[in-house]
Amino acid sequence: MAEKETKNSVGNNIPKGNKKNPGGAKFTPKFNPIYIYGILLLAFFAINYYTNSGTPVETSWQEVKNTMLKNGDIAKIVVVNKSQSDIFLKEGSYEKYKSKLDQGFGSPAKVGPHFFFTIGSVDVFEKNLESAQAEFGDNAKVTLTYETRVNYFSEVMGWLLFPLIMLAIWFWFYRRMSKGGGGGGNIFNVGKSQAKIFDKESRVSTTFKEVAGLAEAKQEIEEIVEFLKNPDRYTKLGGKIPKGALLVGPPGTGKTLLAKAVAGEADVPFFSMSGSDFVEMFVGVGASRVRDLFKQAKEKAPCIVFIDEIDAIGRARGRNPNMGSNDERENTLNQLLTEMDGFDTNSGVIILGATNRADILDRALMRAGRFDRQIHVELPDVIDRKEIFLVHLRPLTLSEDVNVNFLAKQTPGFSGADIANVCNEAALIAARKQKTKVEKQDFLDAVDRIVGGLEKKNKIITADEKAIIAYHEAGHATVSWLLEHAHPLVKVTIVPRGKALGAAWYLPEERQITTREQMLDEVCATLGGRAAETVVFSKISSGAQNDLEKVTKTAYSMICYFGMSDKVGNVSYYDSSGQSDYSFNKPYSEKTAELIDAEIKELIDIAFSRAKDILIKNAEGHKQLAELLLEREVIFTEDMEHIFGPRPWGKKKEEDNPLKEDDTQPTSLESEITKV
Ligand code: ADP
Ligand code: ZN
Repeated sequence: MAEKETKNSVGNNIPKGNKKNPGGAKFTPKFNPIYIYGILLLAFFAINYYTNSGTPVETSWQEVKNTMLKNGDIAKIVVVNKSQSDIFLKEGSYEKYKSKLDQGFGSPAKVGPHFFFTIGSVDVFEKNLESAQAEFGDNAKVTLTYETRVNYFSEVMGWLLFPLIMLAIWFWFYRRMSKGGGGGGNIFNVGKSQAKIFDKESRVSTTFKEVAGLAEAKQEIEEIVEFLKNPDRYTKLGGKIPKGALLVGPPGTGKTLLAKAVAGEADVPFFSMSGSDFVEMFVGVGASRVRDLFKQAKEKAPCIVFIDEIDAIGRARGRNPNMGSNDERENTLNQLLTEMDGFDTNSGVIILGATNRADILDRALMRAGRFDRQIHVELPDVIDRKEIFLVHLRPLTLSEDVNVNFLAKQTPGFSGADIANVCNEAALIAARKQKTKVEKQDFLDAVDRIVGGLEKKNKIITADEKAIIAYHEAGHATVSWLLEHAHPLVKVTIVPRGKALGAAWYLPEERQITTREQMLDEVCATLGGRAAETVVFSKISSGAQNDLEKVTKTAYSMICYFGMSDKVGNVSYYDSSGQSDYSFNKPYSEKTAELIDAEIKELIDIAFSRAKDILIKNAEGHKQLAELLLEREVIFTEDMEHIFGPRPWGKKKEEDNPLKEDDTQPTSLESEITKV
């Protein structure tokens, strides 16, 4: 498992031991005015407690009248706030009541008041007292006074309580929102940038060696490193160093990794921040953070500022004017634009941005002089995938049957992050099975798991349902097997996984353009499931919903985006800028809309009847396949070949494959690794 650790540290953004202290500065507990308030409050409580020590003991009128007044023990009665009577005993009588008065810590002071009782109304009390005095005579003579007493403590607390609670809530929110970033969660640092700084002490150790594939992107970005290392070489000739570069590509393709590699190789401080770190609920905070970030960066120049997910702030302005909350983001973006204009080109600050949605970014952000360069980082092709595998296989202990070419071929459409994940999962699966080496099967399981989700072996499925699922999946497999342009099948399963009850898995070919025939065959194969249900059971089920959704989308894009319908013509209503002004109105007339609907329906209908024809013609094979599925739950290409014979067009495709080397031989990782 030691290997796992090293692998993870590659994926981890922050070098170990640097987590707590991203600024690299020594942590000293800052003196904070908030402490003073705390101390004052404590003092207030303390004073209040000690001055008020000793409270009178509660008693009742009966007791007062029948014991104290009768025996002439009372010196004075003070009516406080018209609601309470405090009783002061005569000095000589104090001893008599000592047992009652002894309340331990809170006993009344010797000077009194010693007892109190609550009165309903002053009038009644006075009348009662008079009659008692008439009854007991001289004994019951007392001094009666009235007093209005204000309890400052509770008065003040009453006034303060609400603001205090508000303050506490506010404070708590601030804490939550500033997420303990650069400001250390301090309420007074909200406007400071939350950037993580990696400089001399806290090295970024990522190098370009760890970034596999991405040859073009790497070349572009290596040039930026050159700029920072030898600016003179470029400025001498009168050239200007670019201010920024935007890394654009789908998630997980290594944009962050590239940026980190720049920092690691360039030997300059690296500020890393995510676009969403700028966004705060409070007005003006984002802009102030941008300002602060650039101020810090200029102090540390030459340096690199990396803003991940820049679309969080860089989204085009002026969209959705009905949503007022955009104002704050716009201010932040404006500040960013101003800052990028504001500093001198040769000041040595280079800004890298990363996004997977370059299309929604504000155009002002992309014009020359800001992010002059756009570097596209695409999903890796089979050769790049092989290289990425080699990077991530390095820390694993591999069995001989693992072949890196095979793995690269099995993972079309996977991003670098997916591949890293496959390697990690495979190691975990192998460890769970107590293996000493990671085997080929572990990798296949990992791929399955990442593509399809967790197996749900104990989902309850009735025998009838199972038959429907088996025929449905066998339908997909049969149709796709017998269509020239459909993707080659890898396996069919009726083991429920994630949300799906069964699945036919294909190996998509690496291709840059897709022809009409290929798309039609795809649609036909996708309809194979529903077609099988119709042909075999003459009943249809809800199980095809996912298929139908896919088919509808493909058909729609064929007609509306790729201009593949003769009747609609060579038009494309796709808006690649993502900034369409007709988001609510279709850019075509009602008549065209009807035509599009009709064309979609026709396309799908034709494909459906083709699928049905294939299934009827190959009913025997379809049945065999479904029964095999019911028996074994998983079947592979070999079983398909067994039933239908080899696909005649399979051979040709194999020859086009860029990784022609034999992929059944074990990979000698040593020799492969030295190549990268
Ligand atoms: P994003 O493009 O979303 O910023 P990241 O750079 O965060 O993607 O990539 C996530 C992880 O995927 C990386 O930490 C790395 O382990 C792996 N990875 C992605 N692309 C590559 C690549 N080209 N070479 C090696 N590893 C990669
Ligand atoms: Zn299906």
